[in-house]
Amino acid sequence: MALLEIRNVTRRFSNYTAVDNVSISVKAGEFFTLLGPSGCGKTTLLRMIAGFDLPDSGQILLDGNDMVGTPPEKRPVHTVFQTYALFPHMTVADNIAFPLKMAGKATQEIKTRVGEALESVRLPSFGNRFPHELSGGQKQRVAFARGLVNRPRLLLLDEPLGALDAKLREEMQIELINLQKELGVTFVFVTHAQDEALALSHRIAVMNHGIVEQIDEPSRIYSFPRNRFVADFIGKISMMSAQVVEAAPSHLKLDVKELGEVTAVGKAGVKTGDTGVMAIRPEQVRISHLSDEPRLKNHFPGKVHDFLYVGDVTTYIVELSNGAYIEALLPNSAPGRAKFFEVGDQVGVSWRHDAGIFLND
Ligand code: ATP
Repeated sequence: MALLEIRNVTRRFSNYTAVDNVSISVKAGEFFTLLGPSGCGKTTLLRMIAGFDLPDSGQILLDGNDMVGTPPEKRPVHTVFQTYALFPHMTVADNIAFPLKMAGKATQEIKTRVGEALESVRLPSFGNRFPHELSGGQKQRVAFARGLVNRPRLLLLDEPLGALDAKLREEMQIELINLQKELGVTFVFVTHAQDEALALSHRIAVMNHGIVEQIDEPSRIYSFPRNRFVADFIGKISMMSAQVVEAAPSHLKLDVKELGEVTAVGKAGVKTGDTGVMAIRPEQVRISHLSDEPRLKNHFPGKVHDFLYVGDVTTYIVELSNGAYIEALLPNSAPGRAKFFEVGDQVGVSWRHDAGIFLND
């Protein structure tokens, strides 16, 4: 049985539908992420799971029990916010102890559990400090400790790493993965950062305008996006208008405008005559000097239009003969080398027969 079951949940604000008939099932022990652009309804959904807000229709079940009449403090759920929400006049230990005191736990038990919680977030000697004596990362760890001290069935995390700089954020991501693994608590994590969702989650629900576009494991979301929105929102991808000219069970043949025949893969149900786009990730695109490239399927001449060096890799933007642009990514494996091609170089781009994805919606 699912730990959390969201069934056909809808929430409207006047005539605006913020969450539109959403159904999601989260398993016990899962690190589940709600991912989507600003305003897509992630926080509204999280607030309804926590009990701070109620659906207009649909059900939210925890361990099979409908939560509709249960106030937030009676739900086996805790929320960690981006802003940490620590009490400034209380020590770290008192902040962490707060949910236990509210639950009427005995003094000795509180002391033991606060000690364990501080250990679990690697701040064993910080109990007597005040929040203003902590760094951003330490404050966030205290917020995690407070979220976990009452052993909730479900921990809700609303962009908890959003206020941290890139390096600290990566450190905290690794800590969060380890913490979740060690404690086995189910996490529902909200973010608009696709790299964070891919790095942390067992499964991701991609949301857009209040609906769920796709629920899948990170590698499937990235490699087999269900539609153009998911493809475009997660990672980089080039897209070109295409029509299906042959739909075999194992592959598709596409006619890409002014480029000719391209092989690709697509979801079940795609048929000859369907129109849409051929989408391809930059790391799937090979780029070489025109004369070096053997004549392969999915091989096209082009010209380097621009490039973007970011240290470990360089992305080349190649203009094809049909006027479309395609991105190709090359690792900078030779030390001191920022690029292999110059703007204006005549190049060939190619890709495996199954690297292109046909998307018709
Ligand atoms: P962000 O990443 O910016 O926090 P989000 O995906 O969490 O965005 P929500 O906060 O869930 O988005 O908001 C979804 C939509 O519902 C937005 O258009 C927002 O303006 C609207 N909305 C949210 N809460 C209310 C409210 N209390 N009253 C009216 N409209 C609301």
